[in-house]
Amino acid sequence: FDWWHDSNLQGYAPICLGLEDFYIRRLYLRIQDCFGRPISSAPDAFIDVVERYSNDNNKTLKRTTKITRCLNLGSYNYLGFAAADEYCTPRVIDTLNRFSASTCSTRVDGGTTTVHTKLEECVANFVGKPAAIVFGMGYATNSAILPVLIGKGGLIISDSLNHNSIVNGARGSGATIRVFQHNTPSHLEKVLREQIAEGQPRTHRPWKKIIVIVEGIYSMEGELCKLPEIVAICKKYKAYVYLDEAHSIGAVGKTGRGVCELLGVDTADVDIMMGTFTKSFGSCGGYIAGSKEVIQYLKYTCPAHLYATSISPPAAQQIISSIEVLLGEDGSSRGAQKLARIRENSNFFRSELQKMGFEVLGDNDSPVMPIMLYNPAKIPAFSRECLRQNVAVVTVAFPATPLLLARARICISASHTKEDLLKALE
Ligand code: PMP
Repeated sequence: FDWWHDSNLQGYAPICLGLEDFYIRRLYLRIQDCFGRPISSAPDAFIDVVERYSNDNNKTLKRTTKITRCLNLGSYNYLGFAAADEYCTPRVIDTLNRFSASTCSTRVDGGTTTVHTKLEECVANFVGKPAAIVFGMGYATNSAILPVLIGKGGLIISDSLNHNSIVNGARGSGATIRVFQHNTPSHLEKVLREQIAEGQPRTHRPWKKIIVIVEGIYSMEGELCKLPEIVAICKKYKAYVYLDEAHSIGAVGKTGRGVCELLGVDTADVDIMMGTFTKSFGSCGGYIAGSKEVIQYLKYTCPAHLYATSISPPAAQQIISSIEVLLGEDGSSRGAQKLARIRENSNFFRSELQKMGFEVLGDNDSPVMPIMLYNPAKIPAFSRECLRQNVAVVTVAFPATPLLLARARICISASHTKEDLLKALE
């Protein structure tokens, strides 16, 4: 289970590189064909998928295009904020008119607008931490922050199925990396016990610091993190907890505040709360929320804060406005309705698939639903048949999953209606 953390084979291309075999090349092209199509609409409940045709076997560049309107079961638009919204969109347009699409500056050189400071306050308040720092990209939040938080002499203990951005950040940090069996607290404890004696004070251990990294909802498994048990073990062994809530923030919990709210974990027990704005909030970028001291330290030292152009102001405004809707600050109950809807939709779709006999991974309340296909050869067939039926799905295979654990990954949205879901089931 530590193959994913050790391997250099983290892209799709190596499947065929160096293999001259004609049939393998053909297979690779066919697989690629299934997830490379451009979209010409917002990623809402329905999307316009652009299909390209070549009538003479790719021999010339003459191509025609056809646009197919499909039920969208692939985007991370959990709360439906990725489409035009009566509250968010006018505010995003006002911000675009006033601030433009880019600050053209780093955060420390004039790239901090009033929208950025408001966003950081708003995120800290929403996730339940004293302070927050935001970045223009979710992926870079993990990969740039980890090397600032820990380095040589430190120990990272990472869930075996953590996202590639965490793997890259962990590798770039220079810390020693140990991997624990996916979402298995007893194995985490075993790994910790191998490294330190229980109750040993932080100053008497062979490691400068220990960070345990987990995700709120695992994006390829749809599974909720066993956070209460993991937090208890980290407390016992005095290790820091780093929680990536890319897929859980906004999507789960009574008020959308993520897995801590859902599973009853005190946010004070999670040292670093990371998340992205690209799923539930329909925007882009990522955040780290933590104590005032940690956030101030990151603001002084993190190269991605000091040297990268700040997050686009309209994107920042989209996040602020969508959080306001979730908190009911727009004066409506739409936020609560969206949260109820994503829960109902996810639980309905999962249980119906299971009744039909599909093998579906993940837990109740999770909007991520992998349907196991196992054999990678089924990927093109499944994906094309869905497209033929005007349903867009994402299929995932090696190296993002082990070779024989290919799957279709369904993402449910609050903007799906019951009829949409029934159509997909049919
Ligand atoms: N963390 C996790 C767990 C993810 O699944 C992703 C991407 N889906 C990221 C980080 C990177 O976020 P982004 O796509 O917003 O850059």
